[in-house]
Amino acid sequence: MSQRTEVRRAIEVERQAIDVRQAIGVVVSNDWVNDRYKHMTVCVPGLAQVSQPGQFFHLLCGVASAGPLLRRPMSVYKMDPLRNEIHFLYHVKGEGTQLLAQRQGGDPLDLVGPLGQGFTLNSRWHRVLVVARGVGMATLAPLVAVARRREMAVDVILSARTPRDILGAREFAAMGAHVFPVTDEDGSSDLATLQSRVEALVDQGQTDALFTCGSARLTRMLRDVAIRRGLPGQVAVEEHMACGIGMCQGCTRVFRRDGKDVHLRVCQEGPVFPLEEVVYP
Ligand SMILES: Cc1cc2nc3c(=O)[nH]c(=O)nc-3n(C[C@H](O)[C@H](O)[C@H](O)COP(=O)(O)OP(=O)(O)OC[C@H]3O[C@@H](n4cnc5c(N)ncnc54)[C@H](O)[C@@H]3O)c2cc1C
Repeated sequence: MSQRTEVRRAIEVERQAIDVRQAIGVVVSNDWVNDRYKHMTVCVPGLAQVSQPGQFFHLLCGVASAGPLLRRPMSVYKMDPLRNEIHFLYHVKGEGTQLLAQRQGGDPLDLVGPLGQGFTLNSRWHRVLVVARGVGMATLAPLVAVARRREMAVDVILSARTPRDILGAREFAAMGAHVFPVTDEDGSSDLATLQSRVEALVDQGQTDALFTCGSARLTRMLRDVAIRRGLPGQVAVEEHMACGIGMCQGCTRVFRRDGKDVHLRVCQEGPVFPLEEVVYP
């Protein structure tokens, strides 16, 4: 076999393994939930049924010819298989999300996904503790929904700058989760206070696992608590990414796996990783 044929075959195998799904959805609604975050619902047949909590879509926020060139990754906030709808909750921040914020009902949206490895819930667990910072709650929301459907007890700590930035408290309470909002404004989100609260919840509630997203500081604290208490944990990691399908390696980070430093792609091996594997300088 010639070298060129071998290369072509390797590319074909890689393409089959990736199974990328690109679709053009239709925006159903795109509404402000407060002065910084928007909630977008997109109708796109067949994708809500196969999306898992913790997975994400890579969204083309502008127009391909006008940029921005790079798609922006957004977690699945809710999936509604009966209506063929995927929901996103996003912080309107820079060029990409500002363009996304301009979409109106009826507009098309080009999306690729669902991508990455989502959260796993062990059927032996009875109680889980979820700690979200800011818009990290969007990534954790479908996990809470699935855990509650499986009748697990769920404690949710929602941390944000101000009470106005606390999202999802009512929604999680309606699912039957125990919700603990904490804010920078009143000092209740301070790391030491939060650590005591986490440890108290772990002690009282017989927590089986910890989940987090949205803050490196919180992740580090939870990783240390998880290691000290011998608890499993998972974190959804955020990293700038270009292709989102593992080819460009742009989102590679160092993780600590089996006692060794390993380079893993957030888009492909993640974005959800075991808590004990995260490494911060
Ligand atoms: C797996 C995953 C899930 C996420 N889920 C959510 C969510 O549910 N809700 C939410 O609000 N946020 C989420 N984020 C964060 C979100 O993707 C960023 O806030 C968003 O990409 C910001 O884009 P922007 O252009 O508005 O911001 P900007 O802050 O303006 O971008 C800053 C700079 O970074 C560069 N940049 C931006 N994106 C990329 C990229 N992908 N690769 C390389 N450079 C880049 C831009 O060119 C710009 O110069 C998620 C991130 C990841 C990795």
